[in-house]
Amino acid sequence: MAESELVDVVVVGLGVGGEEVAGRLAEAGLTVVGIERDLVGGECPYWGCIPSKMMIRAANALAEARRVNELAGSAEVRLDWAPVAKRIREEATDTWDDRVAVDRFTGRGGRFVRGSGRLDGPNRVRVGDQVFEARYGVVLGTGTRPSVPPIDGLADTPYWTNHQAIEVEELPASLLVLGGGAIGLELAQVFARFGVRVTVVEAADRVLAVEEPEASEIVAGALRADGVEIHTGVKAERVAHDGTSFTVHAGDRAFSGEKLLVVTGRRAHLEELGLDSVGIDCTQRYLPVNGRMHAADGIWAVGDLTGEGAFTHIAMYQAGIVVADVLDHIRRLKGGPDASGTASVVGGAAGVVSAVGGAMSTGGSTVAPGSVPVADYRALPRVTFTDPEVGAVGLTEQQARARGINVQVGCTDLTSSTRGWIHKAGNAGLIKLVADADHGVLIGATSVGPAGGEVLSALVVAVHAAVPVSQLRHMIYAYPTFHRAIEDALRNLK
Ligand SMILES: Cc1cc2nc3c(=O)[nH]c(=O)nc-3n(C[C@H](O)[C@H](O)[C@H](O)COP(=O)(O)OP(=O)(O)OC[C@H]3O[C@@H](n4cnc5c(N)ncnc54)[C@H](O)[C@@H]3O)c2cc1C
Repeated sequence: MAESELVDVVVVGLGVGGEEVAGRLAEAGLTVVGIERDLVGGECPYWGCIPSKMMIRAANALAEARRVNELAGSAEVRLDWAPVAKRIREEATDTWDDRVAVDRFTGRGGRFVRGSGRLDGPNRVRVGDQVFEARYGVVLGTGTRPSVPPIDGLADTPYWTNHQAIEVEELPASLLVLGGGAIGLELAQVFARFGVRVTVVEAADRVLAVEEPEASEIVAGALRADGVEIHTGVKAERVAHDGTSFTVHAGDRAFSGEKLLVVTGRRAHLEELGLDSVGIDCTQRYLPVNGRMHAADGIWAVGDLTGEGAFTHIAMYQAGIVVADVLDHIRRLKGGPDASGTASVVGGAAGVVSAVGGAMSTGGSTVAPGSVPVADYRALPRVTFTDPEVGAVGLTEQQARARGINVQVGCTDLTSSTRGWIHKAGNAGLIKLVADADHGVLIGATSVGPAGGEVLSALVVAVHAAVPVSQLRHMIYAYPTFHRAIEDALRNLK
């Protein structure tokens, strides 16, 4: 057995969540080893949120320029992907090099180890020939990878995942997109706006199937207006690649494209983490955690791995809880006040249980001893950055009804609001509210529109803080904003 080195905490996977936890614990004065096998920062900065939103920003600039013809004379648009690819390469990813991120982590006091980490018994992590013994615990933040469906022939083809789609320097003439969820639709619209012939193939009976059907319909309409072909209810059965193009077969139908982008969901790979060495079932889809992110004694998990929502803001939110809980755990080991067992959710997204005593710095925030937030996902916001954007929070109407809640729904069309009417070109959208009639509060909301993700923020506050609908009705909404349509939707609640 290799000789182990004793440290305070080991963090495996330095994506959004892991890097935040490791950095803040190191800043708090702990000896922290952070292990990353690929790029420090994870999916979001290199192949996810940031580069995809740079692509969307560019594609939306083209769409706005094309709207000049309807609103302000005429504009001739000439497409060029080169500045987009250059921006992603140079500004977002340093050509997929994480030196800056590694320095950022070591600058906070962490010790960086490049490699694949796996548990090797309680409190032990092995990475290559090295073994670390964690005095206080291990944090897993290993994220997810694209889940590629077992479609006949697919595995043998040079299909794209989000990685190749983000890294592309020269656009193909045509693109097949397998999967009509948020990532598939965002990328489909970008490529279509840059002149690629895009076909989306989705197995469900509508795109963006996890959101409200009204939102799906508006987004499908917007993408079709951009020239995207959308086929729903299509179960791909076989994929073929003849060297120059892909064909997806489904029954007697066939769809083809020069490239094939597979965006059918993501999967955690628990089998790689040595979880069986600590008695955790590694055949699960995700690693379940409690409200304080505990997966087992001395093991915390953070981010996509937990299956609570694949969003950077979830990973960051959970990271704050892990940091507070690890520090609380250490305090208790050292005989400090014990807040465990009394944890409860107070006033929304991260309830706080307070105890007495001196404060401990966690780098950027201060956590009083015994103060440990407990995760609460009631007001989890999500935004699909298509044009129009789809912002959503809490439950959809269907989810609320399935829970037996006495539901009221209020909807309004953005085009009939003053701001929507003024906006004209590109004004498709809606506000849909889902209320719990018995308690008089909103439990879900959707905001589709040119600024759907920004308008959402008011609705997130309403759901998070359980603001009574009667109070929301008596608020003053600035005229003529997009968010003023919330007032109309409230009036329509029934
Ligand atoms: C195209 C795309 C667009 C997206 N857009 C958005 C958006 O607009 N907004 C949003 O909120 N979210 C978005 N997301 C989701 C967001 O990127 C993820 O939710 C976020 O990156 C999750 O962070 P994480 O720390 O859980 O995991 P990751 O970022 O996946 O990081 C996990 C890290 O662990 C490493 N790792 C794995 N196993 C090991 C091991 N055994 N040893 C060592 N290291 C290991 C991996 O190499 C990786 O670096 C997008 C995702 C994609 C793919």
